[in-house]
Amino acid sequence: MTHDIQALDRAHYLHPFSDFKALSEEGSRVIVSAQGVYIVDDQGNRILDAMAGLWCVNLGYGREELVDAATRQLRELPYYNSFFKTTHPPAVRLAEMLCRLAPAHINRVFFTGSGSEANDTVLRMVRRYWALKGRPDKQLVIARENAYHGSTVAGMSLGGMAPMHAQGGPLVPGICHIRQPYWFGESNGQDPEAFGRDCAAALEERILALGEERVAAFIAEPVQGAGGAIIPPESYWPAVKAVLDKYDILLVVDEVICGFGRLGEWFGSMHYGLEPDLMPIAKGLSSGYLPIGGVLVGDRVAETLIEEGGEFFHGFTYSGHPACAAVALKNLELMESEGIIERVRNDLGPYLARRWAELATHPLVGEARSLGLIGALELVDPATGERFDKSLGAGNLCRDICFASGLVMRSVGDTMIISPPLVIAHHEIDELVDKARAALDETA
Ligand code: PLP
Repeated sequence: MTHDIQALDRAHYLHPFSDFKALSEEGSRVIVSAQGVYIVDDQGNRILDAMAGLWCVNLGYGREELVDAATRQLRELPYYNSFFKTTHPPAVRLAEMLCRLAPAHINRVFFTGSGSEANDTVLRMVRRYWALKGRPDKQLVIARENAYHGSTVAGMSLGGMAPMHAQGGPLVPGICHIRQPYWFGESNGQDPEAFGRDCAAALEERILALGEERVAAFIAEPVQGAGGAIIPPESYWPAVKAVLDKYDILLVVDEVICGFGRLGEWFGSMHYGLEPDLMPIAKGLSSGYLPIGGVLVGDRVAETLIEEGGEFFHGFTYSGHPACAAVALKNLELMESEGIIERVRNDLGPYLARRWAELATHPLVGEARSLGLIGALELVDPATGERFDKSLGAGNLCRDICFASGLVMRSVGDTMIISPPLVIAHHEIDELVDKARAALDETA
């Protein structure tokens, strides 16, 4: 059975973000089931999933309530669209709940099937907004190096991943990238708060270089996820906010990872006191049980699109898909009734921070950082205290050792990342930290 699946996988399945040839030679690990914070492979190994799938299984695996919500909705109305003057209860109820949870100035939602589609939608809305405002030249978007905003052409262009750009052909025009607030990697030991202010100053410099009258929006994740769980210095966001206000530039905060409790608030923006004009969402919205994304649209943009825009020629077959919306609604209701956000903020986040910080003393670790339930370890050469030569692949080695010992941690270069389900228990955090330490020992 295992053999069949692996052989068929090799023969037919092109995996995302994979070296097709290398993977077909190496073969994939087959995951067959999951419960709580553990996944189970076809050999019966239980593996602690410290990545919550792909930063998305926030309520953990095996939640019958979500399964029931999906099956109920699939029986009642498996599909209908909302293109041509029709609507349906699950999408409407989900939209209402999202607007209740979001900051007060956000009262509209546009649904998509994924985070990438959400960011495509953002680009369309931002450009349409300024055109409607009689500012058709205000079309440029500033994003950040090493950011991830998705894999569609617009998502990839907004993202700042150099290898994706190198393969993608011409990017969507009118998008440029500034430095990221990555203190460990790029500050040369500068005072963190001064470094955060310098990164925000880079935004102002770019705006002035491009011409403030041409810059439409700035897009960023509250904490950069796929780039390496990059937690900005406290000085960063207030300084960015001041620059955007000064030049009347829209703020887009990509909440695809940080939304729905990851930082101990419903949205990462709330942790940093931001009031974004647009917030793309996905992943934790449904805890990954079914695919759904969207854009939360602030009043300023929404009112212009509604009052002045006429028909908006944009949408997806699965925008607001009934079963996905029903699951997302149930997911948010469970998060609320079980007090998940408060638990991450007051209990799990501080507990993880304490335990995770212990790893900072390991000779292979240059920095151990976390916020809420996102964390990273920066691997360094114990002999020099400097970063490893990239070609050694220390991060990938550590990741593979982790997996073999029953822990999913992700490596981004030599940065090891965690983003566990928000229902993880203290003893499971202990197991996570113990396994991570053992893997570091073995990697060394
Ligand atoms: N935005 C961010 C911050 C992400 O991390 C991701 C996916 O990892 C996306 C957008 C794209 O989401 P999707 O993979 O659902 O298209």
